[in-house]
Amino acid sequence: MKAKRKSAEGEIEREIAPFASDDESRIKEENIILKETVELMQRELESYRRSPFIVADVKSIIDGNAVIKLSNGSIFYVTFPPNLSIKAGDTVIVEQKNLSIIKKIPSSREFGVENFVIIEKPKISWSDVGGLEEQANELREVIEAPLKNPEIFRKIGITPPKGILLYGPPGTGKTLLAKAVASSTNATFIEIVSSELVQKFIGEGAKLVREIFELAKQKAPSIIFIDELDALASVRIDIGTSGEREVQRTFMQLLAEIDGFKPLGNVKIIGCTNRADLLDPAILRSGRLDRKIEIPNPNAGGRREILAIHTRSMNIRALNIDELVRITLGFSGAELQAACTEAGYFAIRAHRTFVTQEDFEKAVRKIKKGEEEGPDLHRIFG
Ligand code: ATP
Repeated sequence: MKAKRKSAEGEIEREIAPFASDDESRIKEENIILKETVELMQRELESYRRSPFIVADVKSIIDGNAVIKLSNGSIFYVTFPPNLSIKAGDTVIVEQKNLSIIKKIPSSREFGVENFVIIEKPKISWSDVGGLEEQANELREVIEAPLKNPEIFRKIGITPPKGILLYGPPGTGKTLLAKAVASSTNATFIEIVSSELVQKFIGEGAKLVREIFELAKQKAPSIIFIDELDALASVRIDIGTSGEREVQRTFMQLLAEIDGFKPLGNVKIIGCTNRADLLDPAILRSGRLDRKIEIPNPNAGGRREILAIHTRSMNIRALNIDELVRITLGFSGAELQAACTEAGYFAIRAHRTFVTQEDFEKAVRKIKKGEEEGPDLHRIFG
């Protein structure tokens, strides 16, 4: 190739030169990529050889050293570099051999509690809740009044409950009521589902509870809504397994948090369960969720109101509401809502833009049938 390049024939030289420089640059590029790949693999290999660090919580600082607690519950007295500013409550990374603190995990990168709860400012008005007037009034007294006007309680000299328990069958509007009261007080609604809390955050439940209450204080006025409270606060006969102990620890933390805040502060708790009979009396003790409100399935008047709410934006022809109220005996609010949606689907299937009494009756029959047959496993498991 060199010989050809040196050739007197400028033609050939012009033809080859660009290819030669193309080849060179391609080889150079390939070389760079290969080098980078080797370096990356070496780094990765090194990271596999390195022993992991441990994450621990700082309990207290004593004489310039720290007392830390590991997730298995062991407590150690360890050193940390003087340029590191740490305090009780921080989460830190510690060396595996001597457990000395290497660095602090910034709180924003810690647990990220906001990723594990539902936080919203609901827009549910009292008029969206049907048939629960008495219960709504009680909620207003216990949650709304102290949040809106704590002064009056101070003047009269009574302390309102810190929280309440809503109990009753599924789909009766417990969440809806809690959201309505959050909405009317312009409070942040922080929802925790207890069963998820205890299943997903093994070893972290108690910490998560602490952080949720901290978050609620930051976002106050706020309402902490604890759904399926029984998953966390049931009476436990046997707490032998580590899972049970974990639930117990999380529950104890919940009690400690409730005890730790003031009744006239601007954080309130609403617990919710279908199984009030399972609850540990400790959660219902005075000063905790000591107001219990039953949310039953709606009676005829309630069903009428709920149907009115869920049909208000529907295009309906000749509805016999009395008949609907009659045939929906035993329906929950959620089932009544489902019947309205289902009736709409019957209209769509019949290529109509309005919904008839017959659509509603078919929908009610379908929901009753579904209830008798239980969940459709084919649909669930494909
Ligand atoms: P669960 O115990 O299963 O958590 P729940 O009692 O919290 O149920 P909700 O989630 O409040 O029930 O109700 C589900 C839906 O059913 C609501 O979003 C609402 O559309 C409808 N619904 C239930 N009860 C009522 C009611 N009293 N008034 C109007 N709508 C209702």
